[in-house]
Amino acid sequence: MGVITGLHCVTCGSIYGPNDVEYTCPSCGPRLGTLEVRYDYERMGKTLTRDAFAKSGHESMWRYLPLLPIESEEHIQPLRVGWTPLHSFPHLAREFKLSSLFVKDDGQNPTASYKDRASSIVVIKAQEKGKSVVTAASTGNAASSLAGFAAATPLETIIFVPKTAPEAKVAQLLVYGARVFLVNGSYDVAYDLASEASEAFGWYNRSAAVNPYLVEGKKTGAIELAEQLDWHPPDVVFVGVGDGSVVSGICKGFAELQLLGWIDRLPQVIGVQAENSAPIARAFAAYDGNDVWFEDIDAHTVADSICVGKPRDVVKAVKSVYANGGRYVTVSDEAILDAIITLARRTGVFAEPAGAAAYAGLLSLVRTGELQGKSAAVMITGNGLKDISSARKVVGEPTLIEPTLRALEAHLP
Ligand SMILES: *Cc1c(COP(=O)(O)O)cnc(C)c1O
Ligand SMILES: [Zn+2]
Repeated sequence: MGVITGLHCVTCGSIYGPNDVEYTCPSCGPRLGTLEVRYDYERMGKTLTRDAFAKSGHESMWRYLPLLPIESEEHIQPLRVGWTPLHSFPHLAREFKLSSLFVKDDGQNPTASYKDRASSIVVIKAQEKGKSVVTAASTGNAASSLAGFAAATPLETIIFVPKTAPEAKVAQLLVYGARVFLVNGSYDVAYDLASEASEAFGWYNRSAAVNPYLVEGKKTGAIELAEQLDWHPPDVVFVGVGDGSVVSGICKGFAELQLLGWIDRLPQVIGVQAENSAPIARAFAAYDGNDVWFEDIDAHTVADSICVGKPRDVVKAVKSVYANGGRYVTVSDEAILDAIITLARRTGVFAEPAGAAAYAGLLSLVRTGELQGKSAAVMITGNGLKDISSARKVVGEPTLIEPTLRALEAHLP
């Protein structure tokens, strides 16, 4: 278990002890003052080797326990989170003129999204802190994931989702036994309500960005990717971006591996946003290495998980990708829907729109030719079954027939 040396404010640089503050930097406020967990890396470097993970016996993200901010194994849920498959597709790599192409399928997590990596940590933190209620605002996945991981614990889960959340995600919440509030408004307003409620009633808040421990879970996808490739990570890694926590986590994972000397080069992380939901991409374009300038927008995209106009982790998402040497790209809704289909038909991996957005980002850079000869990985952050209505918009209808061979023959070439 990692020894935390401090929680660092991403804007003013103030350092807090883990018991001094719960969520964000008091002087910068919740939006600018998100905190980054730092550890005693020098000690880690002396006591840990990268071979230790394989020997840990955990075929889950708990193999990285020495790099995670939890105090004991007591509250770890038996659900197998992380250590998701990494598939290689040489036929596509050849076609795209890449040296290799990998797809990491995080849709195979217990509640079918990347969010499980963070929820599993938060459920432990809540119990370590003696909380009885956990809450979250969510476009859907963060909440269903929290509800799933809290299900077998004494924690009560209270959730705020926009009333437009996809039906499968709402069903997951109800099945896991969460108390669900469908908020009459966007995700951005549901978020503010959850924050007010958590403050008013003392609930532990898992909403994106404010809780510094979320990114710690989210960094494990990067560490896994590196380990699965024998510590030779690819040149570029694509991921869909909404609030900006997943992309920040992936950058942090690679940065820590580099700090520990376990990888010799940093993969470039490419954050992919939907064209009409891209405030982070815009803030990144305006960033010059000093203060992060950003403007909230009214967001619209078919990719509900990244439909975020008021991104809560914008400072971290801009600074961490800048430090990583990566960048942002935007893709249209049409390209996202098309990517769901082409990804599924070429690889067998069915992604929800926000997951397919990362693949659409890859395709857009393949088209410009700038990835030629490089190795690339795409993080598929959510399973396609979570939002079938988006997928069905672009696949046409099946054929209805009478149950006879003759009827069938009439439809065959
Ligand atoms: C939450 C989510 C993202 C983006 O993560 P952020 O931290 O909001 O940027 C991408 N894909 C899926 C499927 C998600 O659920
Ligand atoms: Zn601060």
